Amino acid sequence: MPQYQPQTDTPPKITNALSVDVEDYFQVAAFENQCALSTWESMECRVERNMERILALFDEYNIKATFFTLGWVAERHPRIVQRIVTEGHELASHGYQHRRATTQSRTEFREDVYRAKELLEAIGAQPVNGYRAPSYSIGAGNLWALDTLQEIGHEYSSSIYPVRHDLYGMPDAPRYPFRSHCGLLEIPISTVRLGRRNLPFGGGGFFRLYPYALSRWGIKRINDAEGQAAVFYFHPWEIDAEQPRIEGASRRSRFRHYLNLDKTEARLKRLLADFKWGRMDEVFSNALQNTYRPTFASPPHELAKNSV
Ligand SMILES: [Zn+2]
Repeated sequence: MPQYQPQTDTPPKITNALSVDVEDYFQVAAFENQCALSTWESMECRVERNMERILALFDEYNIKATFFTLGWVAERHPRIVQRIVTEGHELASHGYQHRRATTQSRTEFREDVYRAKELLEAIGAQPVNGYRAPSYSIGAGNLWALDTLQEIGHEYSSSIYPVRHDLYGMPDAPRYPFRSHCGLLEIPISTVRLGRRNLPFGGGGFFRLYPYALSRWGIKRINDAEGQAAVFYFHPWEIDAEQPRIEGASRRSRFRHYLNLDKTEARLKRLLADFKWGRMDEVFSNALQNTYRPTFASPPHELAKNSV
């Protein structure tokens, strides 16, 4: 007699990629004029306690994620890196000094990303394959940065935000993972296409700005209507409403940085419960295994040689 099989209308949930950019509140680009690198040592450190909360939260929801970790933070708090690795998360690089790629020469960029990769691999005792540029600062004007990342041995970048924004973005870049002109896999942050525009739905300040229902709608649309995995990110300082306030920054910078910090952790818990989440390298393992490499250099407007 055949066994009864319950029928379900709900298809299996798509696993989305969850990522954290591991940096402290004084290292963000919005405060770069107020908090120079030379002052960082004297600032109150909050990243360690915020990371404890994040790792506990991921453990509670049984979620593995990718941590794009700043080299400067890893060097001073190696325990954070070791916990990321021992708890089964993916360790990835956010560069060493949190300088936007757009403000660096090729040599400076190369030194920064090389230093971060070496350091993270030494502390974490495992290969570091992923990289995310500070403030999504890779775009049409500096695609050479992708060549550098590949030469140094990264297997993917998650540094292009296909949106129009005053500080970053490459609005006509592909919205889903693609092989760039040099063959490096780029995994863009999530957007929703509305009319002729891409709206940012990948987290950060927009997650704090939008009501939670809107963020949920965006990710559901990416999963259900487009059949794609979303790429979401946040920062440890975004769950820290008590962080010291930085004086002297512009109104816009302060609005962007401090908006709804007290609401973020509760929203994150809903997000973790409502969707299925995983590490970048596991969610995009098929794309990473596709080893397409172009054999000739391409002009920047031919950025995407091959969607994967
Ligand atoms: Zn950052």
